[in-house]
Amino acid sequence: METVPVNCNNCGAPLEVAAGANYATCGHCGARLAVRRTGSAASTEVLEKLDRTTERIAGHLEELTRQNEVERVDREWAQEQANYLVGGKDGRRHLPTQRAGLVIALVMGGFGLIWTAFAATFAPFPFPLFGLLFVGFAVYTGLSQVKGAEKYAEAEARYHERRREAMRKDPDPPPG
Ligand SMILES: [Zn+2]
Repeated sequence: METVPVNCNNCGAPLEVAAGANYATCGHCGARLAVRRTGSAASTEVLEKLDRTTERIAGHLEELTRQNEVERVDREWAQEQANYLVGGKDGRRHLPTQRAGLVIALVMGGFGLIWTAFAATFAPFPFPLFGLLFVGFAVYTGLSQVKGAEKYAEAEARYHERRREAMRKDPDPPPG
């Protein structure tokens, strides 16, 4: 069998490997070696080192994929959040809260009822009924915000779940 002289890249011992071999085991230190050929010259590389480099690159890719996935989930959530915003007294949009909703329904609705009762004592029919319209509007607006706050809380929980998912995801199977 034709052999090629090489040195073990791990311990430096001289070795003879078969001419066509791509892999060899050092008889001196037992290292698993990959045989590299450049023209007629041959050298060896310790396989374990190769494996570690490959693993490191794979690890980096996995980390990058995870980061991209988490950033995508965050971006989508930032866009989704905009759907839940409600107008505030100061004209700025903010997230709905159950408390603000109840305050609107009870305080504004209560004010409307008092106004209606007061107007009924002197104003001709159907003028006091406008008060009831106001009450209805206040209750509807307030309860809508309570409902919105619930939906927002559910959406936020889904977002946190997606984010956890993305952070532990194995990137090998492509999404979808
Ligand atoms: Zn060796």
